[in-house]
Amino acid sequence: MGLVKKIIKSIGLTFASLAIFHSCYKEGIKKVIKDCSENSQKIKTTEQLEERVKDIRKDLNVGKETNIYAEFHEGYNNASILSRPYIDSQGFIRVEEGYLIQLNKEKANECSLKHEMDHIVNKHLIGKLKIKNPLIKELVYWYRYEPQAVAYGAFNLKL
Ligand SMILES: [Zn+2]
Repeated sequence: MGLVKKIIKSIGLTFASLAIFHSCYKEGIKKVIKDCSENSQKIKTTEQLEERVKDIRKDLNVGKETNIYAEFHEGYNNASILSRPYIDSQGFIRVEEGYLIQLNKEKANECSLKHEMDHIVNKHLIGKLKIKNPLIKELVYWYRYEPQAVAYGAFNLKL
């Protein structure tokens, strides 16, 4: 095999290994999230939910200017955040009146709530919007934002 062919082959192998590593890594993170959600304390009532939001706000030092609402929903998603920040026509990042965290009524749990609140507090939603390149977005999301939110949701570590 010629040198050029060898180089191309080894570059190809490197990319393939990285792609395999990345997908294994993602599965690992998803597994931690799943285990944490299944084993953490369940949130059953609206009062409990509001109480927990209040406590976590305090724990994360969320300023008064950030409105965080939470509610149960019946959909498929485990947890999601609505009222996301958006970029207006002039390219400015605007934050709507507040964030709404929706937790699945059947599975609502402390771990998911903490995870989503960490995303809000660390401005992951705003940062993500600034990134246009899909590859960079994927890498920043999985290697920076998700581990940070998982660390707080699952292990109570504020990174
Ligand atoms: Zn997340």
